Amino acid sequence: MTTQPVDYIATRERVRAYLDRAFLGLEARPVGESVLYDSVKQKLMESDARLVAHYYVDPQIQQLAEETDGLVADSLEMARFGARTNTRRLIVAGVSFMGETAKILSPTKQVYMPTLEATCSLDVGCPENEFRAFCDSHPDREVVVYANTSAAVKARADWVVTSSIAVDLISALAMDGKKLIWAPDRYLGRYVQKQTGVDMLIWDSACVVHEEFRLHDLDALQSVYPDAGLLVHPESPEEMIDRADAVGSTTQLIDAAARLQNPSFIVATDKGIFYKMQQQVPEKLLIAAPTRGAGGTCQSCAHCPWMAMNRLSGIDRLLDTWPDSCEVLVDEKLAAQAMKPLTRMLKFKAPYAE
Ligand code: SF4
Repeated sequence: MTTQPVDYIATRERVRAYLDRAFLGLEARPVGESVLYDSVKQKLMESDARLVAHYYVDPQIQQLAEETDGLVADSLEMARFGARTNTRRLIVAGVSFMGETAKILSPTKQVYMPTLEATCSLDVGCPENEFRAFCDSHPDREVVVYANTSAAVKARADWVVTSSIAVDLISALAMDGKKLIWAPDRYLGRYVQKQTGVDMLIWDSACVVHEEFRLHDLDALQSVYPDAGLLVHPESPEEMIDRADAVGSTTQLIDAAARLQNPSFIVATDKGIFYKMQQQVPEKLLIAAPTRGAGGTCQSCAHCPWMAMNRLSGIDRLLDTWPDSCEVLVDEKLAAQAMKPLTRMLKFKAPYAE
């Protein structure tokens, strides 16, 4: 079953307004960035900080994390890394829920982001007060939220999941006969529901990047690359998922590119993933999946506008001045409440996992 909050249209408009501002804030890549890269790398190595970067940020920032003992990963591994690294400071190159999660799991560390403006359409599309009221009106259901939510929404949840464990965890809850609420991504929710058969009410929000992948033009692309496999992130529309050779989280898609025998892949997720995926399969051709096709309007063109707000210049500024305006802070009471479902997520192991 899908639920439609009464003011969902207003929520969508807020997302679009935010996106427009985010695009305005993007700066052109400065000339001489390799000089800047070397300087930032040197400062980072000399600092008491580690850089943890998501697969969707600028490849230069991913490379910087790799070359300075940091980490490039999906949101689940980013959360784990922050908690186990012992530096005083963490720099999170990603979006705000990743910074918040790092702070909640590492309360004694100072967590910074190049800009705190980098949010996520799923987070924006699930306001805490509306979500809390919705959950309160279904007290018989356990609440599962995707990691792409605010600390306040996590604090109302029984479970937090990432796309890498969503099917396994909800499958385990379904086997226990639980009835669930899922938020916020409707495509991932429907995918998980189809895989597990669970009784679940689904919040109606979407990722502005993945929602744009369409079958439109896919046939034409596949006729040019008949041997290409199709890799699809489950935040994408069902029509894409149904045609996929592999469906999964970012890490699972990178693994699939290495595991499947195809010489090339059409990839339906943020283009930032090509940096790590190509490292895994240097001999294979990676092709961006089509979005809405010629004449369609495209808000993201397969690259998250908020991930794109993570700039090398922003990391440089952090390393020079550690400004308060870039430090992630989470209310202690909220953090303690959100810690419970986050800890359950980190401890969860699929019944058949090694
Ligand atoms: S790619 Fe989509 S889900 Fe990921 S941060 Fe951007 S808007 Fe959110």
